[in-house]
Amino acid sequence: MVHTDSKITLQLLQNKKKHKKLIEQIRTKVQEMEQREWRVEFRWIKAHTGHRGNEMADQQAKEAARNKNIEECYIKIPKNVVMSEQKEQSVKWWQREWTQTTKGAITKAFFPKIEDRLKLRLNVTPNFTAIVTGHGNIKAYLHKYKIIGDPTCPCRKGPQTVQHIVFDSPLLEKEREKLKAVVTRTENWPVSCNKLGVQYHKKFKECIDNINWNEEQRNSSQ
Ligand SMILES: [Zn+2]
Repeated sequence: MVHTDSKITLQLLQNKKKHKKLIEQIRTKVQEMEQREWRVEFRWIKAHTGHRGNEMADQQAKEAARNKNIEECYIKIPKNVVMSEQKEQSVKWWQREWTQTTKGAITKAFFPKIEDRLKLRLNVTPNFTAIVTGHGNIKAYLHKYKIIGDPTCPCRKGPQTVQHIVFDSPLLEKEREKLKAVVTRTENWPVSCNKLGVQYHKKFKECIDNINWNEEQRNSSQ
């Protein structure tokens, strides 16, 4: 979308019979851009009404007018470059929000970097979501929200938190052994949640998806 405060320019652009040099240059430019799949539209806006882009253009026009040596200059940026820069920017922005917010502490432990999470393209399952968010069929969570009276894990070794399920609970024992076998090929167990979520995500997710919730746990989730 191109905003201009010049009605004359717009009229000249619409009138195909007019062939002023600058207008021709704009037409050629638009054609070039359209060939590269840009959609270009022109709109008129009132000048000097605090439109930021307009004020900037005005400022630059004044500077250009002052500078007698200025050479005409077109900076060509391919569409895909603009797109990927925009995407990078939005990931950065999202990351900043992510880092600053106090919410989602458990998810942050698994995925401190949004980029990593985005690369994974995880096929999320209820079990996996419950573990990496701490929300769902986990007794510590159900207890916190007063859905159940007692957060103790059926194994009786303590409250059933994400930490407990992943690293301690017999609920996961068999699956945890498989995960450990993969991890200990390269390093010592236990590893951080972040490593489980990113480096070992495939095995970790497999393991979480196979949690064998016992009878008591299944009932508490209903
Ligand atoms: Zn337990």
